[in-house]
Amino acid sequence: MADLVEGATGLEAAERIARHDLARLNYPPANWVPERFGPDGKRVLDVLVVGAGMCGQTAGWNLLREGIRNIRVIERNGHRREGPWNTTARMPILRSPKHLTGPDLGVPSLTFRAWYEAQHGSEGWEQLYKVKRLDWLDYLLWVRQVVDLPVENGVALEHVEPAGKFLKATLSTGEAIRVRKLVLASGRDGSGGFKWPRFPSFDPDGPKRAGRIFHTLEEIDFSRFVGKRIGVLGVLATAIDNAATALEAGAREAICYARRPHLPQVNKSKGASFPGFQRGQGMLDDDWRWQIYTYMLSAGSPPPHESVLRAQKLPGFSFRFAEPWLDVVIESDGVTVKTTKATKRFDVVLMGTGFDVDMSRRPELASFASNIKLWGDTRAPEEAKANVEAALYPYLGPGFELMEKEPGRTPLLSNIHLFNWGSILSHGALAGDIPGLFVGSPRLVQAISHSLFRADVAQHAENMFNQEDPELEPTDYFVPRERRSGTL
Ligand SMILES: Cc1cc2nc3c(=O)[nH]c(=O)nc-3n(C[C@H](O)[C@H](O)[C@H](O)COP(=O)(O)OP(=O)(O)OC[C@H]3O[C@@H](n4cnc5c(N)ncnc54)[C@H](O)[C@@H]3O)c2cc1C
Repeated sequence: MADLVEGATGLEAAERIARHDLARLNYPPANWVPERFGPDGKRVLDVLVVGAGMCGQTAGWNLLREGIRNIRVIERNGHRREGPWNTTARMPILRSPKHLTGPDLGVPSLTFRAWYEAQHGSEGWEQLYKVKRLDWLDYLLWVRQVVDLPVENGVALEHVEPAGKFLKATLSTGEAIRVRKLVLASGRDGSGGFKWPRFPSFDPDGPKRAGRIFHTLEEIDFSRFVGKRIGVLGVLATAIDNAATALEAGAREAICYARRPHLPQVNKSKGASFPGFQRGQGMLDDDWRWQIYTYMLSAGSPPPHESVLRAQKLPGFSFRFAEPWLDVVIESDGVTVKTTKATKRFDVVLMGTGFDVDMSRRPELASFASNIKLWGDTRAPEEAKANVEAALYPYLGPGFELMEKEPGRTPLLSNIHLFNWGSILSHGALAGDIPGLFVGSPRLVQAISHSLFRADVAQHAENMFNQEDPELEPTDYFVPRERRSGTL
């Protein structure tokens, strides 16, 4: 090992060790998937991965590791702007504990710890409290580089539709490509979009919103808020971190409002964060899965105590509990918020209301949306009515594939795998939070691998029948094929 890192230190040494480990694991294996050609004579892509955030890059690497190499990974954003870390996330540190694994796919030298120790030593690791937000991004990009995963930044999927036996994906570059499997690793809002609250005078799509009302998951220039009074709807993690970021940028006041009487106190997802739950949730019957996640969704999750500590020490910060908003009126010089207790003027309002899961909002899936099976299609009408949000989650198959509401109408739907937050009711949090990724990615890739193998099983079997390998040639017992009898 000393030879291996000779002349290198820090991350360069860590990269050499990791590459050596990958070589020991025979990475990358040869491609085994037979070529397919479309009517235009062009080779059909085996897998298109959409999104190169944490889930997309892990899935892409996992596919290469399984010898599925005719793939492309596209990413709408530019390099270092993948995912929330350097765009819309506003917390200094991750909520998760530092020892989490996942993007490493079980290779010790590719863990966050290996990356961190390479730069700060084991003492630095011991002293580290939690992962800094941008360190997590840099770590992910380092893994991507070491595993040689090609990512096309600045390329978005715009539309997917059936085209004969294949899917046709239209990209923002104008390219239209035929693909066999599509993995939508498009992030937290990839199965819907921003959730906007409904108020009589507020239109989120109207022109008056610009510069006055923002969603906390949007990119925001906080330097514009110096001296401003900010009203924040919501008291969970992103709402509080947005309020704190505004105050740290020079805002005069930031008030976070909630309907509830106090902060939620218990993070229920921690109780579901162990291998048994992570592997087992997706194997449960529908009743259990529905019961677990409708409970989880309604329980809510407290903000990290670090975020609350960060905010509560800032002058100008406050919470208003048990004070729901009734209306939001945008004027030329500010926003008037009417609550159940008062009418208050703000310069700017931030909506920390999260995102919806609603497949009908995804423009790229418009050709399929009406036939996507949802959890609401599987539950009794009164149950679906009582859990309107949960009822809109897609009902996925065992490999994260979308399923048909009406079987036979859009059969290619099962070639679209939803590897994002929308999968939690079906599989648990395996394609959204870091801890579940070590279960989610192999499950996805195994399903794709089975399906691609099954589609060509006759050819694979024929190749095996015809296989010729003169392994015994160097010995005295080699028999040429034409003289063999009884046994091949
Ligand atoms: C503020 C915040 C803090 C979080 N903190 C934690 C934490 O501490 N611990 C934890 O376990 N989890 C945390 N999470 C949850 C989760 O880990 C992250 O959301 C993580 O980024 C999920 O990875 P992803 O790949 O699913 O999505 P993302 O990282 O968002 O990646 C999706 C990518 O898809 C791209 N994309 C979308 N649509 C298209 C398209 N049509 N074509 C091409 N590209 C497209 C996007 O540009 C994006 O880069 C946090 C999430 C947020 C928002």
